[in-house]
Amino acid sequence: MTHGTAIRSAEVLVTSPDRNFVTLRLTTEDGVVGLGDATLNGRELSVASYLRDHVAPLLLGRDAHRIEDTWQLLYRGAYWRRGPVTMSAIAAVDMALWDIKAKIARLPLYQLLGGASRTGALAYGHASGRDLPELFDSVRGHLDEGYRAIRVQTAVPGITTLYGVPAPGARYEPAARAPLPAEEDWDTRAYLRQVPGVFEAVRGEFGPELPLLHDGHHRMTPIQAARLGKDLEPYGLFWLEDCTPAEDQEALRLVRRHTTTPLAIGEVFNTVWDYQTLVREQLIDYVRSSVTHAGGITALRRILDFAAQHQVKSGIHGPTDISPVGMAAALHLDLAIHNFGIQEHMPHTALTHEVFRVSATFADGYLHPGEEPGLGVGYDDAAAERHPYQPAYLPVSRLQDGTVHDW
Ligand SMILES: [Mg+2]
Repeated sequence: MTHGTAIRSAEVLVTSPDRNFVTLRLTTEDGVVGLGDATLNGRELSVASYLRDHVAPLLLGRDAHRIEDTWQLLYRGAYWRRGPVTMSAIAAVDMALWDIKAKIARLPLYQLLGGASRTGALAYGHASGRDLPELFDSVRGHLDEGYRAIRVQTAVPGITTLYGVPAPGARYEPAARAPLPAEEDWDTRAYLRQVPGVFEAVRGEFGPELPLLHDGHHRMTPIQAARLGKDLEPYGLFWLEDCTPAEDQEALRLVRRHTTTPLAIGEVFNTVWDYQTLVREQLIDYVRSSVTHAGGITALRRILDFAAQHQVKSGIHGPTDISPVGMAAALHLDLAIHNFGIQEHMPHTALTHEVFRVSATFADGYLHPGEEPGLGVGYDDAAAERHPYQPAYLPVSRLQDGTVHDW
């Protein structure tokens, strides 16, 4: 073992500056600190326990340089493979070890991943509105902030609260602080009637060049998704995301047969096995996994290298349920990989940035992880301790007759 690189402590830190985050902090004998994101939206404490009770004891005394061996130990050694809790825990360890290795090398992490393949990561922001004037204002606001690609979500007449559309004047945060999940209503036929006209209006207002994206959030059947993809073809979307429940890989064959609208999927996936059919048969165009939920930098790099062989690109998940640590890991990968597509960007709040100090920057539509050694994220314990965990849950969806639907 290299002198001083044994892991001396493994701390699991839970904080809630506007929303819950779980962070793993590893420290070596020499005092080098690595951070990893273990935030699993609405199930945060399960990953905290997995790390604290079952993983931290395995890490103490191990050489922090042995990233691959540690990854394999945690993946194969648990016997119970895959799943969001396990893979988020492994991801946190993996990120923290890469952070440590890059700090010891005195290099920003992307340099250890092969160096920069581009000058910055094209980012897309989230525009939404309850009606067209409000939506146009939101798109304009994003353009004013520098965004060069925009996701468009819209209210649908007859549906009271809807994914991606905040209440008037509110910042959008799907996980609401409450002891139980909120309930939202859903009507797929009303949604399918509404969305194409909204994209027609947005194209009419902003012209043909602006890359536009849309998230279906796993709510359609394959034939409904095929219909929406076809209806949206005139508006040249950058992608249609999560058009069907992601775990049914075969469903995308049917969607693909009917539409040339590019497809993105995978934010709920956690290993490369979830992508076998999708990538090998070229049923999708973009991989949506996050570093945090797919087993870390080591594992997501493998997924993206596999995807590259089939001309499938990255579109790494990046809403605020990825902590600034997980976001930094994504940005280092974005900069280094060849098959980069786009990066989701939902800025964290000022309060979150009091806890997580970041070197990453956003300018002129592009994100960059910065040049600090490691991931480029610092953790302020005093600020974190001012915001203890609060129960918060993603909503559930019900149809008009009360049937539970995919949220
Ligand atoms: Mg999504």
